Amino acid sequence: MVIDEFKKTITQIQRYYGKEYNEVQLNEIYKYFGKMSIARFNFIVSKLYQKNKYLPILADFVEVHKENPYVDYKKPEEKKNECEICKGLGFVLYKRFIEEMDREYEFMAHCTCTDEYKYDGMKCKNDRNKSQYFSKSVEEIKRFL
Ligand SMILES: [Zn+2]
Repeated sequence: MVIDEFKKTITQIQRYYGKEYNEVQLNEIYKYFGKMSIARFNFIVSKLYQKNKYLPILADFVEVHKENPYVDYKKPEEKKNECEICKGLGFVLYKRFIEEMDREYEFMAHCTCTDEYKYDGMKCKNDRNKSQYFSKSVEEIKRFL
């Protein structure tokens, strides 16, 4: 992303939460996410709107980033494989309506044809980012749904 894109999104977040970041906080967020695409950053922000009651700090951004495997919709097309299950995407999305909660949930399952979308929070190299979150395989999620 370019700095103007970053600033625009930050302005939106500040308006949304009615609070402002200080310079140190902004520098840290940009240091971490500045090299990512603005689409990915905005995706993270949209998740934060659903999750955070208060102005998210760097740790919140990083958490959402780690919890949501990177799905760059342009990438899979470039290197499509012949897998029948995921059609070469490396992952499959499933939807399920949960009546008790009156909500439709979307589940992402990684395909066993590639490790690209496999995620295990416990195996995270950086101790601070370790989490219980891991992605299920297509086989596992079929059993679960
Ligand atoms: Zn596959």
